[in-house]
Amino acid sequence: MTEKHYTQDNDTLHRYLFSQRAVRGEWVRLNRTFEETLNTHHYPKAVQNLLGEMLVATSLLTATLKFEGNITVQIQGDGPLKLALVNGDNQLQLRALARVEGEIADNSTLQQMIGKAVLVISINPTQGERYQGIVELSKATISECLQDYFERSEQLKTALVIKTGEFDGKPVAGGLLLQIMPDGTGSEDDLQHLQLLTDTVKAEELFGLPAEALLYRLYHEETVELFSPVNATFHCGCSHQRSGTALLLLDDAEIDEILAEHNGSIDMQCECCGTHYFFNKQAIEQLKQNTNQP
Ligand SMILES: [Zn+2]
Repeated sequence: MTEKHYTQDNDTLHRYLFSQRAVRGEWVRLNRTFEETLNTHHYPKAVQNLLGEMLVATSLLTATLKFEGNITVQIQGDGPLKLALVNGDNQLQLRALARVEGEIADNSTLQQMIGKAVLVISINPTQGERYQGIVELSKATISECLQDYFERSEQLKTALVIKTGEFDGKPVAGGLLLQIMPDGTGSEDDLQHLQLLTDTVKAEELFGLPAEALLYRLYHEETVELFSPVNATFHCGCSHQRSGTALLLLDDAEIDEILAEHNGSIDMQCECCGTHYFFNKQAIEQLKQNTNQP
């Protein structure tokens, strides 16, 4: 079997543990999940790569959740990329969107795209209180910004590697996370040692090898416990109903005006997955009735 044609472990996240070092790790690779995100829009190349990095980052973050819920990672800036957003839940159902106003060159840097920007991370547990962390986006890469975030908000030393690109002609995004165990037993020296090994990872290894083979290649002198995988999927969660609820935020006169301009049918397109939802006068009346019911 040649390594090039492994599809094993595509769209998968694995947690792992260095049992003798009190450092934990996560490995993730997104294939169709990433591709389906890109299929919904014609984003500039640099934005596609950024969304890939953010999908990986969000997967790695949600895998650190100890409860049911979801995480939104968003970048808000004043450059031509106004907004980039990824949401993922603890079952690794992911969705992403970007708002671009203006030109973005293929080789744009993060700073050129976003200008002055912040990274907002919202953790939304199904039960319990919502948490929001905001860090200034002053570093060159998402990985560095997230390392910053972990240190400030959770006081946990964390190392991240995130790569996006193509494998076998298809888009792929992958990443590795290392983190000192929150119980305080891990040492920074251990993390640093493992980080040096992790930084040697090549894109084609991250994109082409199954998790177990990659971990062996990187850490063959360590004792690594690899846990069973979680599958990642692209899942939007939009619906005719939800789209309609958003439409009803407009007042009646505005709705009538749009109806008149569009031959009696309003097209609401989902920003995440590109699905069109159509509403005519009758459908809108129906929505109002449904909403007014107790
Ligand atoms: Zn959608």
